Amino acid sequence: MEKITVIISAYNEEEALPHFYKEMSRVADEMKEVEYEMIFVDDGSKDRTLDILREFHQSDKRVRYISFSRNFGKEAAMYAGLQASTGDYVAFLDADLQDPPSLIPEMYQILKTEDYDSVATRRETRTGEPPVRSWFARRFYKIINRISDADIVDGARDFRLMKRVMVNAILSISEHNRFSKGIFGWVGFKTKWISYDNIERVAGNTKWSFWKLLIYALNGIEAFSTVPLLLPLFIGAVTCGISGICLIVIAVRTHIFHMMSFLFFMIGLLFVCLGIVADYLAKIYKDTLNRPIYIVRETEGGIR
Ligand code: UDP
Ligand code: MG
Repeated sequence: MEKITVIISAYNEEEALPHFYKEMSRVADEMKEVEYEMIFVDDGSKDRTLDILREFHQSDKRVRYISFSRNFGKEAAMYAGLQASTGDYVAFLDADLQDPPSLIPEMYQILKTEDYDSVATRRETRTGEPPVRSWFARRFYKIINRISDADIVDGARDFRLMKRVMVNAILSISEHNRFSKGIFGWVGFKTKWISYDNIERVAGNTKWSFWKLLIYALNGIEAFSTVPLLLPLFIGAVTCGISGICLIVIAVRTHIFHMMSFLFFMIGLLFVCLGIVADYLAKIYKDTLNRPIYIVRETEGGIR
């Protein structure tokens, strides 16, 4: 019998988890032709998430869990889930039912009957999301697709079902600055896209603040593009051209003060560019440290 592993990252999800588990079990029970493995990754939650996962594991042998020693972020949680997965097919889901488990049977059928390696989802609408957030999200997808070779689909969710070949390819990418939306596209393979309307979370609150999302977006760009590193080159060329013209004008009308302010502007730009370079350097530095992507405190085997 084939096995489907579902990986659920959960950070302070005590309110949503019972709803999720109920719906996920219903879907799993109905799919009699496959075996299920549910791997919950507790990403350092401070609420009762871990207790709830222990209870699920006690009463249902399909449930496994990994609990991090602190909050390492959703990307680390997804990677931990992949490393622990044993299924022939693997799916990522959020704990808040925004990724409906009821789509999995359809996704599985597609992978069984059509020539695809993964079925991915995208949301058609962004209803229920603050307009500012939607605006930034759209800009982000435009920019990253223009300056990188990762093919990132606007509105793509992390919710997808993949065959083992693709899972192994993703596992082979062990970089620390992980950006799954980019990694999925980068590894290639044939992906079928299905879309659905945005669903609001069943309970609890979003775990992503605007700043957390902004940093995530910048990490994504840095993970898949070195174009920002070339920014000093463009800025330098443009400012050199402008300052050349200014020098001629100043030579005619000696306005010392104007030249001073221009110099300050240039210095400012230099710092911005240096900052960009420093950020990449910092990431290289972190990778050379070779720290683990996450640290497990407890799994269903007990405290380690
Ligand atoms: N999540 C996580 N670690 C984090 C933040 C979020 O594992 O540091 C999980 C969260 O519990 C949820 C999923 O990632 O299952 C998506 O988060 P959320 O629903 O808060 O994001 P949104 O849907 O609002 O973008
Ligand atoms: Mg959500």
